[in-house]
Amino acid sequence: MRKKTLMIHGGISRDKTTGAVSIPVSHASTFKQDGVGNFKYEYARTGNPTREALETLICDLEGGVRGFAFSSGMAAISAVMHLFKSGDHIILTDDVYGGTFRLATKILSRYNIDISFVDTSDAQKVNEAIKLNTKAIYIESPTNPLLKITDIRKMAQIANENHLQLIVDNTFATPYWQNPIELGAHIVLHSATKYLGGHSDVVAGVVVVSSEELANEMHFVQNSVGAILGPDDSWLLIRGIKTLALRMEEIETNTKAIANFLQSHPKVKKVYYPGFSTHTGYDTHKNQSRGFGGMLSFDIGSGHLAEQVLAKTKLFTLAESLGAVESLISLPAKMTHASIPKEHREVLGITDGLIRISVGIEDVQDLLDDLAQAIE
Ligand SMILES: *Cc1c(COP(=O)(O)O)cnc(C)c1O
Repeated sequence: MRKKTLMIHGGISRDKTTGAVSIPVSHASTFKQDGVGNFKYEYARTGNPTREALETLICDLEGGVRGFAFSSGMAAISAVMHLFKSGDHIILTDDVYGGTFRLATKILSRYNIDISFVDTSDAQKVNEAIKLNTKAIYIESPTNPLLKITDIRKMAQIANENHLQLIVDNTFATPYWQNPIELGAHIVLHSATKYLGGHSDVVAGVVVVSSEELANEMHFVQNSVGAILGPDDSWLLIRGIKTLALRMEEIETNTKAIANFLQSHPKVKKVYYPGFSTHTGYDTHKNQSRGFGGMLSFDIGSGHLAEQVLAKTKLFTLAESLGAVESLISLPAKMTHASIPKEHREVLGITDGLIRISVGIEDVQDLLDDLAQAIE
C-alpha cells in the first residue's frame, strides 16, 4: 500500500469481532486469561488493543518492525534514552528541541550519561566527536526554528561503521514526507502532539524501531518505565492520522506561497524555508524527503517589530507548539528558546526579530492578507 492508503487501512484498521470500521476504545485495565499464562492481553500497561492498533499503524507508516505509543513526545524520547546506561556517550544535534536539550543536560547527566552537542549538518564534526563509549547519534532534520538539515543516510553510514544507533526525531517532516528507517536509521520517534494528531487536542509520542532486538528492548522499557498512551488518546491519534496526507499536502501548498510572499517583502530581512533552493542543505533534504513541510521562520529586523507583527495578526494564533490545522505564530527568542543566553542565540541565528510560523490549512489568501496587514 502507498502512504495515503496506509493512513486509512494500515495497522489494525477495524474490529474483528463486530466489523466496526472505527477501532473501539478499550478501557479495560486487565483481561481474563484462558488459563494461567494463556492470553492475548494480560494487563493494559503491557498491551492494550486500542494502543496496539495505533502502534501497528505508526510502524507501518515508518516502515519499521514495531511501534510504541507514549503519553507525550518527551515520554517517547526518555523511553529511548532508557536504552542506554551510565558511562555511555550520545551525540545530539546542537539545536535539538528544547525539551530534549533539558532532558539531556538536566536529567540524563544525573545518571552519568555523557552528551555532546554537535553540528550534525557537518559529518566531519560528527566523526570527530565519536569516543570509545559513544553509543548513539540523535538527530532532527529539519530542526527548529532555523530548519537546519542533516544528511540522514550519511549519519546512518557513520553509525553503522562505529556500531552506534542512529535515532531520528521525525516530528517536523512527518512519515508522509520522510522515512528515516528507509534511509538507514535504527530508531525513529515523533512528538505525535504535532502533525500526527494535527488538531491541537492530544499530547502523545511514538517510537518505531527497525529490528526485533530493538523491539524487545523497547517493549521492556515501555512496560518497565510505564509512560504509555491511554486508549482515548490512542484513538484520537488514529483518527488524526487518517487525514495526515491531506493536511500535509494542503500545508505544503500554503507554506510555499507564504515563504515566497515573505521572501519578496521589502520589510523582511531573511526567510528560512527548506523549500528554497538557496536554503543550506536543500539538495540533501530533497534527496531524503518528499516535501518541505509547514514550518518557516523569518527575520523582521528587531524584537520590537516582531512583537508588533505578533500583536497584529488575527488568524495566526500566538502560541507554542506546531503542526495543527490552525496556523500558529511565535517568537523563539522570547518563547521556545528563551532559556538560551542571547549571545549564544545570536550565534545560532535565533535573533530577537526572528518569527516562527507553523502553517495550517486555512485558505492561503486569508493567511497572506493577514500577514501582509500585520507586517505593514
Ligand atoms: C514538541 C516536540 C517534542 C516534545 O513532544 P511533546 O509531545 O511536547 O512532549 C519533541 N521533539 C520535537 C521536534 C517537538 O517539536
